[in-house]
Amino acid sequence: MDEKEARKLIVEIGKLMYDKGYVTSSDGNISYRLGENLILATPTQVSKGRMSEDIMALTDLDGKPLNDKRVSSEIQMHLLIYRMRPDVNAVCHAHVPYGTAFAAAGLAIDAPILSEVILTLGCVPLTAYGTPSTPELTDALKPYVEHHNALLMENHGVVAYGKDLWQAFDRLETLEHTAKIAILAKSLGGANDLPKDAIEKLINIREKAGYLTEDARCQSCGYLEDADIKCSLDAPPVNNGNSNAGKISLTREELIELLAQAANIG
Ligand SMILES: [Zn+2]
Repeated sequence: MDEKEARKLIVEIGKLMYDKGYVTSSDGNISYRLGENLILATPTQVSKGRMSEDIMALTDLDGKPLNDKRVSSEIQMHLLIYRMRPDVNAVCHAHVPYGTAFAAAGLAIDAPILSEVILTLGCVPLTAYGTPSTPELTDALKPYVEHHNALLMENHGVVAYGKDLWQAFDRLETLEHTAKIAILAKSLGGANDLPKDAIEKLINIREKAGYLTEDARCQSCGYLEDADIKCSLDAPPVNNGNSNAGKISLTREELIELLAQAANIG
């Protein structure tokens, strides 16, 4: 997609986000990776419902401004995702009411209650609170960016990302819709979880159909463990002389810790 089309689409998606109540005032931001080191992003302090194509900011992957428009300080969240996920070309951040209610209540969106969500989005983890626009926030996101496509930020909001602008928006929309259904089901006495074998079938379908890759088996998500879905990340070879040389096993917590350390070193 060229820059002209990307500007047009960001305006369209901003209006959708505003009209659907995903953002109010000047909340939220949208960005798109135009080139290897070139990001197009919504500027600071602008309603996403009233944007025009000529107001967008350009930065490099370190956040250095490349035109005369001031980008939102929340761009660091987007840049972290672009640096860690070469497959991601678009990011949407919003304070969606139902999703943010989960984030404010200290809850992840990770119950296996909707087949479509297991197929297309996977689990949405809750990341620890970090002051917006500071490294506290990006440090809290780091352990989760690699294997998830949307994150809840405690007491703040949500971020969703994908290969293009529509996929990022669709994931944001799926997250919010799921949160809304979960809250409504709770008011009716609580949602029923899908059984373990149904979850396993859905995971196999989503990989065959290409909705999510095997990487998503490594998400921080209780039902994957319950359903016996294993994360098989390639481990560095360890020559310990037994038949399992080259394989190590980690608990999910150990894996997250390791990813966090790796991200900090990088
Ligand atoms: Zn925010």
